[in-house]
Amino acid sequence: MFIEVTGLKKGYTTGEVRTEVLKGVDLQLEKGEIGVILGPSGSGKSTLVNIIGGVDRSDGGSVMVDGTTVTSLKDVELTEYRRENIGFVFQFYNLVPNLTVGENIEVCANISTAPLDVDQVLASVGLLDKKDRFPRELSGGEQQRVSIARAIVKNPKLLLCDEPTGAVDFETSRSILALLQRINTDFGTTILMITHNTAISGMANTVFRLRSGAVVERVRNKETLPAE
Ligand code: ADP
Ligand code: ADP
Repeated sequence: MFIEVTGLKKGYTTGEVRTEVLKGVDLQLEKGEIGVILGPSGSGKSTLVNIIGGVDRSDGGSVMVDGTTVTSLKDVELTEYRRENIGFVFQFYNLVPNLTVGENIEVCANISTAPLDVDQVLASVGLLDKKDRFPRELSGGEQQRVSIARAIVKNPKLLLCDEPTGAVDFETSRSILALLQRINTDFGTTILMITHNTAISGMANTVFRLRSGAVVERVRNKETLPAE
């Protein structure tokens, strides 16, 4: 199993109030698959994905990714795990505004062990001609494609997407999803994606429905399974 989340727990204390956000989450995803996490706002989707990606810590339970027990790593090991294995795509792109498109991607290519070519990766998202533009000069959909290029330039084993189509219109969201699907097919990148959009669930191998900090439903899409 490529991702194996077992009994994952996480809570926050704000003032006197303790909130249990994840109350024992179990989730599994095979290598090369696409997993989609559905669930209402506040159900713990981002928290779960952040712990899998090594940007947040759990309080209990375990996360294994490709044989690494992420939840046991020391801080410096966690940073290394994240840099070498994980690409992130966020709802609002998180591009650096005063760097060009090309520079936004280079920043990530430089810290990686096996960088793809910046031009190659921009061409693969159809934006090589925008390399010297600034993010503000691009449409929302284009900025998201840049952020996807930035996420894949280091050829991550796992691409984590937190509402990647949450800020773009319907047509644009279709092209973003098609791009993610192509990355999955071409590079064999495992993708775990949070969404509110139930229409997206068709492209997933497995759909996980989160409610109040637990997986309450798990649907395996047989028709999207690769041929044996
Ligand atoms: P979702 O992604 O499903 O909307 P989140 O994982 O973002 O859910 O958040 C789940 C709950 O945890 C929310 O109630 C949120 O307010 C709370 N939460 C998330 N991060 C923090 C934090 N750093 N401190 C306190 N509460 C947090
Ligand atoms: P999408 O259709 O991809 O969601 P939009 O066309 O709605 O994106 O544009 C998203 C944002 O980018 C808007 O704030 C828009 O004003 C801005 N924008 C789009 N194209 C340009 C451009 N060529 N120069 C500057 N800003 C732009």
